[in-house]
Amino acid sequence: MDFTELSNYLVEKSFPAYRLRQIQKNYFSGRYSSFLEMSDLPLGLRTELDQKFPLFSVAVKNILKGDSSQKAVLELSDGLKIETVLMDYEQWLTACVSTQVGCPLACTFCATGKMGLKRNLTASEIVDQIIFWNHQVYPKYVGRIVFMGMGEPFLNWDNLVNSLQILRNELKIGARKISISTAGVVPRIYDFANLDTEINLAISLHSADQITREEMMPIAKQYSLTDLAKALDYYTKKTNRQVFFEYLLAKDVNDSDYHLDQLIEFLRTNKLFYLNLIPLNPIKGGLTPSPRLDIFQKELVKNNIDFSVRHSIGQSINSACGQLIVNDQ
Ligand code: SAH
Repeated sequence: MDFTELSNYLVEKSFPAYRLRQIQKNYFSGRYSSFLEMSDLPLGLRTELDQKFPLFSVAVKNILKGDSSQKAVLELSDGLKIETVLMDYEQWLTACVSTQVGCPLACTFCATGKMGLKRNLTASEIVDQIIFWNHQVYPKYVGRIVFMGMGEPFLNWDNLVNSLQILRNELKIGARKISISTAGVVPRIYDFANLDTEINLAISLHSADQITREEMMPIAKQYSLTDLAKALDYYTKKTNRQVFFEYLLAKDVNDSDYHLDQLIEFLRTNKLFYLNLIPLNPIKGGLTPSPRLDIFQKELVKNNIDFSVRHSIGQSINSACGQLIVNDQ
């Protein structure tokens, strides 16, 4: 929710200053779906606010429930739609949020890229995805956030940074509980390092070979692996934090012995580089999962490379990594 107009309105109508803080507190609590339910406000004010201001910048269109994840289609005030995912595994409820409607990057393996970019999300629209889930699961709440939904977070920098501030200050989510994944927008990696936060940084690597990476991710033509590695060295020096590399395994694309060697060599250049291997989630017209995951794992162990395998959840409801798409815009 954008509080500027609300704040002006309350001043204009001479409501005491504490009313704004009270409404904000109610809103961030995730407890309410409308002003009318806020019984700690005078009835007249509740009704007026309900008629004048939308409480949320997103409205739920549909919720799909899987075993340990659920996916919601949310409609924005201009009618465009996004998807947002809630995962219930390990000790925290984790929300996977979108930062753009669609995505301009057109990675070959990702469904969102097939939509193209419609527009950036506002900071309110990013935050409201979390408040939406908090409302759904109340009194439970989202404890971890991954910016791995639709879109490229680092191409929506200002709104991303504003949303992070709200998530940390108002929803009290610790920096270490937040992860941002980028396809590698190099200038913003420097900016992110300079924010000096403990927010986790993940990089969609998918190949440590320049030509293969360009084939999978067109953005690699703009920002080469060399430039990416340089920016990440700056980041690790500045923050002393690990970088998490995402590497999905696609058959006959990035899964050969050559690719494996390149990957090992790349990871060895910086002791804070950490690998997440990801089995490919199938999408329509996309790549084929590789049968060589075991071979990769064995070879990485043999070479003393620290890594983990991300077992995606949510495939049955198309809510897994790379499967988010809304076609009926
Ligand atoms: N644009 C950002 C964040 C969105 S994607 C980025 O590129 O990092 C979130 C993660 O899902 C990324 O690591 C992305 O590479 C991965 N992903 C995309 N499509 C996938 C697929 N079909 N299977 C598995 N992971 C996929």
